[in-house]
Amino acid sequence: MSFCRHCGKEILDMAVICPACGCPARPQNNGRQAVDNSINAGLVVLSVLIPLFGFIYWPLKAKTQPKCAEACGIAALISFAAGLCILALAGI
Ligand SMILES: [Zn+2]
Repeated sequence: MSFCRHCGKEILDMAVICPACGCPARPQNNGRQAVDNSINAGLVVLSVLIPLFGFIYWPLKAKTQPKCAEACGIAALISFAAGLCILALAGI
């Protein structure tokens, strides 16, 4: 037997949620913040279209969604560099 971390009621060891309060019976991922390693293609495309979004999104989500944030940041950098090249070429 173990006890609910939220309401203190006795619950079964195999219980996933507490039957008394409905809270998760055990800490998920050892209590650490879940890390999402998926890449959201829509956000990457958005970063290419609006590099500023990627520059803001990168540090903002670096901890919770490192892969997606990095992809967005790199996409924004490439888009920004390409934009500068186009501007430079057009300027000449
Ligand atoms: Zn509970």
